[in-house]
Amino acid sequence: MKEIKITNLIKFCTLLFLYKKSMHGYELIKLLKEHTGKKISSSHVYPFLNNLEKNKIIRLKAKGSNDKKEYQMTKKGRVFTKTIIDKFARLVNFNIKHNLKICASCRCKLIEGAYKSKIRGKVMYFCCKYCCLQYRSK
Ligand SMILES: [Zn+2]
Repeated sequence: MKEIKITNLIKFCTLLFLYKKSMHGYELIKLLKEHTGKKISSSHVYPFLNNLEKNKIIRLKAKGSNDKKEYQMTKKGRVFTKTIIDKFARLVNFNIKHNLKICASCRCKLIEGAYKSKIRGKVMYFCCKYCCLQYRSK
């Protein structure tokens, strides 16, 4: 089995969209265009889809009476994609935590709307002005 590497956003989104629902190649390309804001040509997408199919991550499923076929994620594909989503979520989480400010007084996490004050020449962050006052009085 040739290893599947998710090396760019297009590949990542391809998996996400097919995880959500089965669709035709052209529908997928349309979605990719909308979400990435990039010009997507079929040469960006089909080699990857072929690779996914070879690895039984997706399969082609005939739908309706016409010849059009949809790409459908297999059970194996869903497990595979879930792992990638989890990995990505951890990465985002880590990044959020890394950038998170903490109240200098009570140590609570500041998601937004931090109270900023310059104390002894240093900008400090607090959750509220009371924490700021308390810190100043120390
Ligand atoms: Zn506080």
